Amino acid sequence: MKTKLPVLTLTGSPHQIGYKHGKKARQEIQHNLEIYFRRFQSETELSHDVALSRAAKFLKVITKASPEYAETMKGVAAGSSQEILDITALNVRYELMYSQFSKIGLKPIPKTFGCTAFAALPTAVENGHLIMAQNWDWIPEVKGLFLKIRNENGPDVLSFTEAGVVGGKIGLNSEGVGLLINGIVSSKDDWARLKKPFHVRCWEILRSKTLGRAVKVIAQGQRNCSANFILGQQKKIGLGKAVDIESAPEALCEVGPDRGALAHTNHFSNPRKLGVRQVLDEERLSTLQRYRRIQKLLDGTVRVGQKLSLAGAQNMLRDHYGKPESVCRHSNMKLPEYERYETVVSVIMDLYARKLWATVGSPCVTEYQSLAL
Ligand SMILES: [Zn+2]
Repeated sequence: MKTKLPVLTLTGSPHQIGYKHGKKARQEIQHNLEIYFRRFQSETELSHDVALSRAAKFLKVITKASPEYAETMKGVAAGSSQEILDITALNVRYELMYSQFSKIGLKPIPKTFGCTAFAALPTAVENGHLIMAQNWDWIPEVKGLFLKIRNENGPDVLSFTEAGVVGGKIGLNSEGVGLLINGIVSSKDDWARLKKPFHVRCWEILRSKTLGRAVKVIAQGQRNCSANFILGQQKKIGLGKAVDIESAPEALCEVGPDRGALAHTNHFSNPRKLGVRQVLDEERLSTLQRYRRIQKLLDGTVRVGQKLSLAGAQNMLRDHYGKPESVCRHSNMKLPEYERYETVVSVIMDLYARKLWATVGSPCVTEYQSLAL
């Protein structure tokens, strides 16, 4: 099956970039707001009013911590004719949902979310380019967008985001920096820390000129919620670095590549070291299963000296071992509809070529389409 990738090219000042995003994706933003406000209520017991009051607090935090992000959100609100607090709630939906997951932790919700991500160093790849790849497993109804952003001051960015969210969460920039993410829940997650939100950090990572700067974006101050970040950078052929950073609200843990590759799903490798308890330990079947499987696929290929090709990376993301809770994730029909998550987008990035290949929908039935910065 061939489906066209939804791509927006955005230029100008932060406000203009936001305005064009809002105007061109008006319907998708309206749709995502409806989905998320319904989900806030049904999955996390968060009413529209409470979500907006928390969004108001975050708007102040963002305006102070990252004025350009705040300006871009205001542009999105103006372009899509939505209220700024609704757009802010969408942009801090990670904080609003994940810290509620942690609070109401014993409901069997987070066992269903997930993503599988991996990176292969240039030495492990056929053409000597750094490859970063991810299946983003999420609510199937959410509308995603690929943004090509020409920033006035800062690198150009090519990223995947949800319509209305300023900070792309999977992407690369013109300095060869790349980002992948995995959601994780811990006992210390709390929106009320009111620190720089997750999506703002993603946006700052994708505006970083160096890997070191991108790491600092994660490390700076406490975080509201836990998350995993895979960062990479390649500027010269054959050279390049990748690192995995598991972040809890008060601590970080860096994990380097093992024999040319690294991978992550949705649990901490060492929660005790980070001083947190993983919520729902007994219900992590999907994340543990996907983690073992992706590591096994890397063990049997790049870690025994085989060079990874684009087709090889695509096949890893199409893997069905343990279906439906597989790397290529499908809805688990045993679960109620609102607990079904699946691979919504699949992305493979080549940091040297500043190019990506992606599918909207399951990569097992959809052909990858290429997109260049
Ligand atoms: Zn599949």
